[in-house]
Amino acid sequence: MNSKTNSTKRGEPHIKLFIPGPTEVRPAILDAQGQWMVGHRMPEAAELFGRIQEKIRQIFYTTSRVYITASSGTGLQEAAIRNCCDHKVLNCVNGAFSDRWRQVTEANGKINEVLDVPWGQPILAQDVVEQLAKGDFDALTIVHNETSTGVLNPIHNIAQAVRNLPNGQDIMILVDSVSGLSGAELYFDDWDLDLVLTSSQKAFALPPGLAFCAVSDRALDKARSVVNRGYYFDFVDLEKYLLRNQTPATPAISLMYALDHQLNDMLAEGMENRFQRHLDMRDITISWAFGRGFELYAPEGYRSPTVTCVTNNLAIDVVALNEYLRSHGMIISNGYGALKGQNFRIAHMGDLQMNELESLLKTLDRFLTL
Ligand SMILES: *Cc1c(COP(=O)(O)O)cnc(C)c1O
Repeated sequence: MNSKTNSTKRGEPHIKLFIPGPTEVRPAILDAQGQWMVGHRMPEAAELFGRIQEKIRQIFYTTSRVYITASSGTGLQEAAIRNCCDHKVLNCVNGAFSDRWRQVTEANGKINEVLDVPWGQPILAQDVVEQLAKGDFDALTIVHNETSTGVLNPIHNIAQAVRNLPNGQDIMILVDSVSGLSGAELYFDDWDLDLVLTSSQKAFALPPGLAFCAVSDRALDKARSVVNRGYYFDFVDLEKYLLRNQTPATPAISLMYALDHQLNDMLAEGMENRFQRHLDMRDITISWAFGRGFELYAPEGYRSPTVTCVTNNLAIDVVALNEYLRSHGMIISNGYGALKGQNFRIAHMGDLQMNELESLLKTLDRFLTL
């Protein structure tokens, strides 16, 4: 790091985050964390948990359960693998985070096969069902919104195609929507999914440290039959406690205060409005990129509503660009891993508003004309 660091003290100017996690957190949310501590077996905590449970189900569009864990999203990738499969997993991979789930699968000793799709391309229903038809799989993993490439996978189509297979009801459809959920449309019950996981620090626009997953009755039944589910993320245990508005281990109570506040604000905005705001921010980012002569990494029809991955075909200096942005109080992301320099990513997720994005794009323009 050769750039000077900024203060992170409240009340002093800060660097606004246009990166795909952690995302910008509003002052009201930061403040909500500062409430008095309660014991996690006190009625105040159960009340908080109950309030959250009722609201968070609306964000996932489910009437089933949503587990809340003190972990990041990767923890729930592991939970899904430990609880929801005991035979063979199909890992659908088209980017860094879907590949992480493959690694998690293998690290937990599960038998797997990989559907490898080139980075930047979507995973298509036909390829998934073709692969599933070849072997007796009991689960598949897929990422809804590949943060490394800006590709949105067609989860609804894929789920429909899987359910239409002769053994489609026995296949657990496990979805990582870490950078999608609450920004990109996802309807857990309507789409007949088994598990959708997300983290607090992406489109939820909360500080990092919490993860959430909706779990279907089918997936919970499956968990009851799976051995070696592990301890911390055992769904059977989480369910037992959830029924009394508790968690087996101590929850991250301060973060849950922030979550409670944020859920109120999300529902007040309205989920459909929230989805539309993200689509509008995506579209203005895309037309900015094309207008300046850039290309996009993701093909049309599969472009993420929450993060745009711009191909650096103009060969601008992305590091210098971010230095410039920092000096103007904002930051974007370089390409992920091997894509560094070849791409840059603009996140337009969470609580960011159109006028904030516009001021980022104006600043990008000033850099380009330097
Ligand atoms: C950020 C991200 C992850 C990792 O989440 P953590 O909360 O950092 O563990 C996993 N999947 C996707 C799609 C992500 O964007």
